[in-house]
Amino acid sequence: MTNREHERAIDLITRSGVEDVSAPDAVWLESHLARCAECADYADGCASTGQLLRAVAVTASPALVAATQSRLRARAVELDEQRSRSILIAVSFCIGTLSSTMSAWLWWRFGGWVAQKLALPASIVEPGVFVAWMLPAVIVAVAILASSHPVIDRTVTMAWLGEDQEGARQ
Ligand SMILES: [Zn+2]
Repeated sequence: MTNREHERAIDLITRSGVEDVSAPDAVWLESHLARCAECADYADGCASTGQLLRAVAVTASPALVAATQSRLRARAVELDEQRSRSILIAVSFCIGTLSSTMSAWLWWRFGGWVAQKLALPASIVEPGVFVAWMLPAVIVAVAILASSHPVIDRTVTMAWLGEDQEGARQ
């Protein structure tokens, strides 16, 4: 057996997995494989590799498509949640600032009177403004941290952005 014969056999084995091999070539290959253990081994290897690849391709493609789709969907939901969360934080910040300013103003305006009524020392009025300013923000922050779920539903924030119709269309 010549090197050229082995080369031809290897070439035919490789091609037979991908394209059609002519009948005389197939017959020649059969007879070569019957006599040559080396090429027969190679043919066995190719056949099992081909079978493995085909089996994987058949079973994996629908599963892979489903997995990729669900991963994409999860990522989209994640991005939506991140966005609605940052909107929630911005809204909470505004509410906190407003209520802090309001309560600080109320304390500044009526703190002296309250201290007088409750017989508290006058020295409490000035630091009281700071406490009144901080307290609502602290309460809002604690409320946000305490709630594992967003206080405001995602659909509400989406509606605020006017994206509810867009979301329905997608
Ligand atoms: Zn051979």
